[in-house]
Amino acid sequence: MIDFHCHLDLFPSPSAAADEVERSGIYALSVTTTPKAFPKTTMIAKGRKRIRTALGLHPQLAHERHGEVGLFVRLLGETGYVGEVGLDGGDGFAEHMGVQKDVFDRILRACSDAGGKVMSIHSRHASAEVLDALARQPGAGLPILHWFSGPTAHARRAAEMGAWFSVGLPMLRSRRAAALVALLPRDRVLTETDAPFASTTGGQYPSSALSDAVVCLARLWDADVEATRRQLNGNLRTLTETTVAIRRPTFDLHGGRPPLVRLGRAASPGRVDASNG
Ligand code: MN
Repeated sequence: MIDFHCHLDLFPSPSAAADEVERSGIYALSVTTTPKAFPKTTMIAKGRKRIRTALGLHPQLAHERHGEVGLFVRLLGETGYVGEVGLDGGDGFAEHMGVQKDVFDRILRACSDAGGKVMSIHSRHASAEVLDALARQPGAGLPILHWFSGPTAHARRAAEMGAWFSVGLPMLRSRRAAALVALLPRDRVLTETDAPFASTTGGQYPSSALSDAVVCLARLWDADVEATRRQLNGNLRTLTETTVAIRRPTFDLHGGRPPLVRLGRAASPGRVDASNG
């Protein structure tokens, strides 16, 4: 299974959460909310083959942490993955949209300068602004819209721009799920938990939320669960093999053999209450 957006560093016990990810054979993208949290969060993934750590600066923290953009740029060479980044136009954050846009633009420019990254992107109540920013920096890499909750017209535009989508249980169980999911290209969808902000009970890593998400997705795709699982695993393989841009080793999907080297193409969420670092 695949969890392409979770916050391992924000669990009460990050190492217990990472142990559970490993035990369940999950490929996880461990995103961060501040550049300062990145070095410590990479330690959680150390020695764990299926966990990768993304460098982030969460839009809900941009007004407090914009001073860390320099650190973000300095750390960027250490990872092929960026997240959580983006824009948030929800209550309490819309008034900081100016600084959020400035931070997000600088991040995208840095990603572009670095040759492109795989990016997990937050777009709550700001999907048009996020797509506009991505359109201004086409070299920034591969955008994966996390927990997309914007209008269907924006989902269509994102898909036309080549974006991917990571979907979790709250999104798949929403009233609009069927309409939204129908617009997402099946070969560009991954699952996510956004844990511990969503799907988590008692501070444990929610493996079952991922299997439930696969079941929901299968129902929406009118496919069987096994075929859905195969599609998702194939999507992750495509992602790691075609994003070039990622010069760093990515997920070990090849049973220990060196990954295929290819010259391919260059390659609504809740509130963030806590952050380490
Ligand atoms: Mn998140």
